[in-house]
Amino acid sequence: MAEHRDDLSRLCIHTMTNRPWSLKECVTRYHRAGVRGISVWRNLLERMDLHEARMILDDHGMEVVSLVRGGFFASADSVRRKLAIEDNMVALEQAAMIGAPLLVLVCGADERQSLVDSRAQIREGIEKLLPHAEGAGVKLAIEPMHPMYAADRSAINTLAQANHMAESFQSDHVGVAVDVFHLWWDPDLHGEIIRCGKNGNLSAFHICDWKASMDDMLNDRGLMGEGAIPLKEIRGWVEETGFEGYLEVEIFSERYWSMDQAAYLDRIIDAYRKHT
Ligand code: ZN
Repeated sequence: MAEHRDDLSRLCIHTMTNRPWSLKECVTRYHRAGVRGISVWRNLLERMDLHEARMILDDHGMEVVSLVRGGFFASADSVRRKLAIEDNMVALEQAAMIGAPLLVLVCGADERQSLVDSRAQIREGIEKLLPHAEGAGVKLAIEPMHPMYAADRSAINTLAQANHMAESFQSDHVGVAVDVFHLWWDPDLHGEIIRCGKNGNLSAFHICDWKASMDDMLNDRGLMGEGAIPLKEIRGWVEETGFEGYLEVEIFSERYWSMDQAAYLDRIIDAYRKHT
């Protein structure tokens, strides 16, 4: 049994992957299945005492890989930009409280303004947040997003852009989250992953799959092996940099959320073993 579990030593699951489950259900089920890493989504903390959350995680020996998610810095509305900073400061406190070393940033975009303006606001937002991140001992991870989200979720759409921005801060508290769903198509991906690692910015590695036919831009991601992403090849590039962190399963899927979550967890583990 021990050997059986050992090959899961680098598997982490994002709680949003099992959206119907509470934090406690995620933790107990993952633990029982031999999964050691967890990335916690903030929705699960909303109705929870953070000390209790920390206790549940610690009691099961879970390693909290990241808190997801902060960001949304870009807005044509200055009040919303200010509120976003405040919300990110709360997120940093939550991350510190539950022992998450990383806060993943969905950087934001606003269709009412140019991408250039959004990027300037993202930079400004990270700048404002950085002293608080240092104070909390939590690193910020810029997650570049697929261009299909450039109008509403992120104006940072390639790994080159994320690398450039992270490098410009020259801080131990700013890094990059590489998510195969967002980046697999990029002809410069190999080189940019190497650059990201070489500069010490490769902070997280998110996995799932891209189905050629999606019912929904957001909530129809594929399980590893179901789509077009050359996952083993990309993992190889990530590890070429010396990255030894977790492979984080992050799947938003109405289809999977509607099935029995325990059976789905078995499928996730099976897909992880076969396709990564
Ligand atoms: Zn991701």
